[in-house]
Amino acid sequence: MNKEKRYEILSRLRANNPHPTTELNFSTPFELLIAVILSAQSTDVGVNKATDKLYPIANTPEAIYALGVEGLTHYIKTIGLFNAKAKNVIETCRILIEKHGSVVPESREHLEALPGVGRKTANVVLNTAFGWPTIAVDTHIYRVSNRTKLAMGKNVDKVEEKLLKVVPAEFKVDVHHWLILHGRYTCIARKPRCGSCIIEDLCEFKDKTE
Ligand code: SF4
Repeated sequence: MNKEKRYEILSRLRANNPHPTTELNFSTPFELLIAVILSAQSTDVGVNKATDKLYPIANTPEAIYALGVEGLTHYIKTIGLFNAKAKNVIETCRILIEKHGSVVPESREHLEALPGVGRKTANVVLNTAFGWPTIAVDTHIYRVSNRTKLAMGKNVDKVEEKLLKVVPAEFKVDVHHWLILHGRYTCIARKPRCGSCIIEDLCEFKDKTE
């Protein structure tokens, strides 16, 4: 894809949604971090249902740590992989309390050292809580980037690398939200909704639907 077309795609996505953000509910970096840990292989809607009950009771490292694995499980048992996630969240709270003064570190290295936090989660937190121009490539971004030919790659790391290289600076902070939302609601996995897609004339996917 040439850079003029890429620029037009990103301009249209921006015009359509000038201030995008995550669909996870949060009001502090800590709430976002925990929500993102809980969201692995789960829907944002499902995570929000759990955190809407959990956060009014406990929304600090100390308060969630005090619940313990069993207490936390009570709130998150509707979410997939809840046992492993409960253990990771409690351990993350302990590390935040002991090593980071109960503050979410604005550092990739320190974030990725927390249990349950990989590159993608760190990217989301750095981007959405701290405004870094990071691009967290999930299944939606991977699909949209490859289908449109905006940034092609054989795995999520390659697509992230390509996006970081080709997306102009003015779009970098917001591009991951635009692509996630586009993949979630329009360029869906099974049958993309090309007929109602705002970038249909620019997209280079060969098997567009009516
Ligand atoms: S035209 Fe179709 S394949 Fe291309 S981005 Fe839009 S929905 Fe996806």
